[in-house]
Amino acid sequence: MRLRSCMEIDLSILASNFKSLKKICPNNEVLFMVKANAYGHGMIPIVKYSHFELGINEFGCASVGEALKLREELPDGKFEIYVFSDVQLVLEEAVEIYLNHRIIPVISNEKDLDFFLANSEFRHFPLCLKFNTGMNRLGIQDSKAEEVITKLKQAGRDEVYHLLSHFSSASLPMKTNKKNLDQKQRFKDLKEKFIDAGIRLKKTSLANSGAIEQGVGLEETHIRPGLMMYGPTSLIPKYRAESLWDGKLISSLETCIINSFPITKGTPVGYGATPCPGNGVIAIIALGYGDGFSTRYQGVELLYKGQVGKIVGRVNMDMAQVFFENGKIEDYKLGDKFVVWDHSSENFMRLCDQSRTIPYEAFIHITERVPKVYKQ
Ligand SMILES: *Cc1c(COP(=O)(O)O)cnc(C)c1O
Repeated sequence: MRLRSCMEIDLSILASNFKSLKKICPNNEVLFMVKANAYGHGMIPIVKYSHFELGINEFGCASVGEALKLREELPDGKFEIYVFSDVQLVLEEAVEIYLNHRIIPVISNEKDLDFFLANSEFRHFPLCLKFNTGMNRLGIQDSKAEEVITKLKQAGRDEVYHLLSHFSSASLPMKTNKKNLDQKQRFKDLKEKFIDAGIRLKKTSLANSGAIEQGVGLEETHIRPGLMMYGPTSLIPKYRAESLWDGKLISSLETCIINSFPITKGTPVGYGATPCPGNGVIAIIALGYGDGFSTRYQGVELLYKGQVGKIVGRVNMDMAQVFFENGKIEDYKLGDKFVVWDHSSENFMRLCDQSRTIPYEAFIHITERVPKVYKQ
């Protein structure tokens, strides 16, 4: 564990992001996506705060293990948990977990649906169905709606507890992009088929962050925000101006300078002996790919005390070299705090954009070696 590097997580910013979210969609219930350890922010503290302080009552995980951990570590929580991708319904072990811990599997293929309907233990269990409306990843094909409806009727079900689908291209414009318009229409048609057949839809959801921040999918009962709750926009750079989102990063990533020295142009730096691109100062920071500070960040610019630094040479396992052109050595002292990203999305987004890393991945990269420090 690092002593002077940390990922500080300010839960009061999560609260203000939630408030901003409710301004965009005052009428929707929120199913907060906390898969992959709450996008690298620590699932338990994030859910604990979101449920007990913010009143969020529905959470989305990716795997049975994540869902079980949530139930076990927050036994007093009265929230719903959905498992979205790694459902494993055919495993006896997984079935026991769903039943005993009130965890809802998102049923995304017909095999799982058949199993669910045939298993008497699930008779009174909420049925959550995910349809494929064009993403072509998980989900029962929407063209199979009639067959599904027949199966439900045969099993004596007249309600789908939660019907959902997922957009493939929500980081692109929702109101003009053909794929998005098509998926939206197909979901609408799908819902009508169920309703016309006399099957009640208790909850429906379609929108992830990209859609929500463009005001799309809000006619459903629920929204499923992930990334935006942690701060960033999901839109690709050229469309960000169209976003309604003004969230702040709930995290900041801090480290310190463990060495610094003046350098002249052409001097080799680190593994691979990359020639330094100019004259100035090299500051060595105590984060490397072993901390989740990816080798992809080579060449990326970092703002430090108002000066633009650049990561030169390869990122190491334990450290990285930041070059400040014309920097003065006295500004880069041993032990000085070095903030890689702060709560403003700008620094973080620059890192992502310049390294062609999606914000989701940049967060999730950060490893256990960097302690998470929570404040309210
Ligand atoms: C991860 C996920 C979301 C949240 O996506 P964001 O882009 O992070 O908002 C919503 N729905 C499903 C099915 C997901 O897997």
